[in-house]
Amino acid sequence: MSSIGFIGLGNMGGPMMRNLLKAGHGVKAYDLAPTLLASAKEAGAELATDPGEAARNVDAVITMLPAGQHVRAVYLDEKGVIASASAPTLLIDCSTIDVDSARIVSAAAKGRALDMVDAPVSGGVAGAAAGTLTFMVGGSDQAFARAEPILKTMGKVIVHAGPPGNGQAAKICNNMMLGIQMISVAEGFALAEKLGLSAAKLFEISSKASGQCWSLTNYCPEPGLVPSAPSNRDYQPGFTAAMMLKDLRLAQQAAASAGAPTPLGAGAAALFALFAGKGREALDFSAIIQMIKGKI
Ligand code: NAD
Repeated sequence: MSSIGFIGLGNMGGPMMRNLLKAGHGVKAYDLAPTLLASAKEAGAELATDPGEAARNVDAVITMLPAGQHVRAVYLDEKGVIASASAPTLLIDCSTIDVDSARIVSAAAKGRALDMVDAPVSGGVAGAAAGTLTFMVGGSDQAFARAEPILKTMGKVIVHAGPPGNGQAAKICNNMMLGIQMISVAEGFALAEKLGLSAAKLFEISSKASGQCWSLTNYCPEPGLVPSAPSNRDYQPGFTAAMMLKDLRLAQQAAASAGAPTPLGAGAAALFALFAGKGREALDFSAIIQMIKGKI
């Protein structure tokens, strides 16, 4: 069993860390929030007093932080993870952040001969608790091979997406497709309503025709058609509109940096920003159908 430094014990990191403890790993935990540190201690973790301490004398460090600025600070500060860890400690960042930050941090790790992967997840808080997350991993073959058994403790599907930053690239490309797709399904139902075509008929036809997609058949924004969808429980998340907006903005940042045209991605980001601006950011992202229908 390994000893693992874990930094960022929030909605995702907390349950992920607990799964490492359950699997028998030793965990040295750190977060800025004292209450989260107290519950990590109760769960059996040792506590660290700063990111540097969490990174010393461990086999691996895992971070689960809000955004690129937090990841850069935790890894690159004078007393941060990269300055404090020594090879062969493996670094695993599971946060969803911008591709450029992921590549900057990974290059700094390489400069100190530390293996590092970016390993953002999909599966949400429920997947984190159940240990069924999907990890999209960027890093060298060697770093991936070392990270895979640890990630398997917290997830089911572990995919090597290529060199450093490619885990983040995979996550934001996927979520940009999802955000656009959800709006397209919402527009279809909004137009059908105006044309006097029932939602049930449109679903019956499109779920077997060329309009079929995950947002329609697995997560339908129109209530009453897919029982497990958040639309049937007042759009309680699920995956919040705030998270979708964050990922669409990361996709736009990456598109600008790489010179990639993503006009529908830009449109989706603008629509989710409008939706969040109406105070709806805590709802599931599929609730955007209400705005498309002019109900809010
Ligand atoms: P969260 O805000 O609940 O947790 C983040 C934790 O990081 C907080 O406890 C915070 O105190 C801590 N933190 C911030 N700066 C720190 C620092 N300098 N040192 C130590 N700790 C610090 O967020 P979350 O929902 O757990 O999400 C974490 C990451 O996972 C994000 O990048 C998010 O986009 C991604 N993600 C979240 C979900 C989800 O459903 N919540 C799904 C997929 C991916």
